[in-house]
Amino acid sequence: MTTPMDAGNWTEALVNSIEVGVVILDRDFMVEAWNPFMANHSSVPAKRIIGTSLFSHFPEIDQHWLRLKSEPVFNLRSPVFIIWEQREYLFKFGCDRPVTCDADHMYQNVTMFPLVSSSGDVERFCMLVYDVTDQALGKRGIERLNEELKIASRVDGLTGLFNRRYWQDRFENAYKLAMRREKPSTAMMLDIDHFKRINDTYGHQAGDKVIHALAQLVKRCIRETDLAGRYGGEEFAVILTDSTVKNATIVAERIRRFAQRLTVEHEGNEISFTVSLGLAQLEVDSKSSMAWLEQADQALYAAKEGGRNQYRLFGDDENPVAIGLA
Ligand code: GH3
Ligand code: MG
Ligand code: MG
Repeated sequence: MTTPMDAGNWTEALVNSIEVGVVILDRDFMVEAWNPFMANHSSVPAKRIIGTSLFSHFPEIDQHWLRLKSEPVFNLRSPVFIIWEQREYLFKFGCDRPVTCDADHMYQNVTMFPLVSSSGDVERFCMLVYDVTDQALGKRGIERLNEELKIASRVDGLTGLFNRRYWQDRFENAYKLAMRREKPSTAMMLDIDHFKRINDTYGHQAGDKVIHALAQLVKRCIRETDLAGRYGGEEFAVILTDSTVKNATIVAERIRRFAQRLTVEHEGNEISFTVSLGLAQLEVDSKSSMAWLEQADQALYAAKEGGRNQYRLFGDDENPVAIGLA
């Protein structure tokens, strides 16, 4: 037979067993009640903290901030909420799920509400501390996943360079900026020579390795502010910002020379390859971004026509700069 508990008993049983922190504080943050949830997570037992200042046990709490924050509880008699998005925790408790939890602390939502005495005064308030670690980690996980997805949708998986679609977006902006600033910028297109032969001789996987190796080489040769993308299968486009075509030739020649020296190992084979490059400096009377890129592409075509393994500048057809056939 069960005996009915009086109100005092069941509220006490509830406060003692609930998985929520329950703290009662007076106006000066002296602790009047401290339930087992708080004792277990803080390792500060009720008998040690009751009658003392909350702040003397938790130096991590910004006293000034919490006092200000709790003012409406007394002044307006309204509840106050502190959510984890605002402040990850009030009490620095460890995360008690060591295996599944990759947080190093418990995320908390905190509610503070006034306790009105029988005389109608508010001399103390109740603070509830909710463990919202699962919810916070779930949300953080989704945010991280979204961030990864965003990056994945911009970046080409094989090379780590921007994919064509995203590169074109950025290129459009770079073009507008360069036109406005009237600073020299140079577009560079590069393409692996006779790449089909590499695929045919060593296989598609070997071809992929060559594309990857060349992308890394290009990254090493350009500046962080330059804009590099994988434009097609074995074709890359780079905008060398704040760079005259003269300066860009130095970069182009370096890429050409390094590519020629590079060997890619695949299943015991040492694969060598060369690249051709086309350069076009942005002209003040340029009609569009695509017209600019088209000029670099024409220069690339000239480099291919001229025998490959070289760079060409747009508009230099009469007096071609064909360097590095060595
Ligand atoms: P050229 O010197 O005139 O550039 O000759 P090429 O053989 O390189 O010419 P083309 O551009 O016609 O050939 C490109 C080949 O690249 C065709 C295509 O099968 C291959 N390809 C395109 N994308 C990839 C890829 O992601 N991986 C591999 N392995 N091959 C690719
Ligand atoms: Mg090619
Ligand atoms: Mg090609």
